[in-house]
Amino acid sequence: MSIFLPKYPSVLKLLYPKRISRIEDNNAIFLTFDDGPIPEITPWVLDLLEDYSAKATFFCIGENVEKHPEIFRSILEKKHTVGNHTYNHLNGWKTCKAAYIANTQKTQQVFTTNKFFPETKFFRPPYGKIMNAQARELVEQDYKIVMWDVISGDYDLNISAETCYRNVIKNAAAGSTIVFHDSEKAFKKLREVLPRVMSYYAEKGIAFKSLTDAPLKDQ
Ligand SMILES: [Zn+2]
Repeated sequence: MSIFLPKYPSVLKLLYPKRISRIEDNNAIFLTFDDGPIPEITPWVLDLLEDYSAKATFFCIGENVEKHPEIFRSILEKKHTVGNHTYNHLNGWKTCKAAYIANTQKTQQVFTTNKFFPETKFFRPPYGKIMNAQARELVEQDYKIVMWDVISGDYDLNISAETCYRNVIKNAAAGSTIVFHDSEKAFKKLREVLPRVMSYYAEKGIAFKSLTDAPLKDQ
């Protein structure tokens, strides 16, 4: 049984104030989808978001964008936000600073090749693992580092869809940044859990916004 922490530990919020986790917004939840774009899965997410007039943020892997540029462009056409999740899902704890930064920049170049020139460069470290020196350099290069407030556990093969759903609704409220994955590994659970999560919060009158529409202030 793997152990994961559904809530982002508050001690980390204190240690790393520049990393975005919870957002000051009383009316919205910020859904994020990591590791795509992937055929059939990302389009399925996009259709569901559309049903709720929802906006979300997709932390894309550079090599997946190269493989599936048409899906990447449809994310943008539907006015969602796109963020950088490295070129090939790098683990920052196992990668030297220069290689980590170069890998992130390479992904940003893939974005611009696909005619996406973001006003705000959002970045989420794969596995949440990033070293201080890497983070500092990215912040210097105007990236906004996005962690999360609640992690769904959709990728965790040891938990059921029901547990995953309960994790989310127990921990997330307006202002939460929730991590899901538009990946093959997570899809079996995502397909079941995401519609339920969206319906649950929509019934409470909570909207779903992308990070572009988030009140980030000085974060
Ligand atoms: Zn990831």
